[in-house]
Amino acid sequence: MLTTLKGLVLRERSVGENDKFLDILTDSAGLIEVSAKGVKKQNSKNASVSQAFCYANYCLSESGGRYILNSAEPIRTFFGVSFDLDKFALANYFAEMVLYAETEEKPNDEVLRLILNSLHFLALGNRENLLLKSIFELRLICDIGLTPNLIGCCECFEYSAPEMQFDLKNGRLYCQSCFGGRSLENVELLDERLLHFIRFIALSDMQKIFNLTVPRDYLKLLSGICERYAEIQLGRHFKTLDFFKSLQNG
Ligand SMILES: [Zn+2]
Repeated sequence: MLTTLKGLVLRERSVGENDKFLDILTDSAGLIEVSAKGVKKQNSKNASVSQAFCYANYCLSESGGRYILNSAEPIRTFFGVSFDLDKFALANYFAEMVLYAETEEKPNDEVLRLILNSLHFLALGNRENLLLKSIFELRLICDIGLTPNLIGCCECFEYSAPEMQFDLKNGRLYCQSCFGGRSLENVELLDERLLHFIRFIALSDMQKIFNLTVPRDYLKLLSGICERYAEIQLGRHFKTLDFFKSLQNG
């Protein structure tokens, strides 16, 4: 059966001399694996649409849940991120997180929109890498259904205080008096600005979140908190993150 799906290639894997397997996040079939035959040959018409970070209309033959690439019409390519090592590392980190988090076959439009927008701004280069990283990490977790409860202190409902404790494991806030003598493991201290940034990323419309401006001295803090939240919620540490971080220290 022939089917057409709009999707973004998250990862390509070589098979033999000429072929590839592609992991594609699609708009209506979730995450799928596609066999792309002959695409490593120089004259293959499908060579460019079989690369990571190509967003295209894929025409596929499907049988029993297995997909074979027939042809494709590119919509947008983000190959530009490959020319900058920091951006390339971050794009691969985003892709690895989605590959890990999107295990269900049901489509998740918000996750596809999130990664397309993140790659767009990454390629454009007019947003700080650490801002895009923070947005992606926190929003991905929200978009897969693990939004923290940010309404206020989970015990007394205080909306805002000069300092609040963010329980990363249970996804909730405590004011200092309700937090009491709880363990500080898996907890981050938020001042009012950090709390505002986190609420903004988690709760605003997708079109708005990329317009968030964060002063440079807050970016590292925000990025560290979003990273820990994602890692604790997914229960997984990503090698692509280590690679991105190794570039920041060099
Ligand atoms: Zn309280």
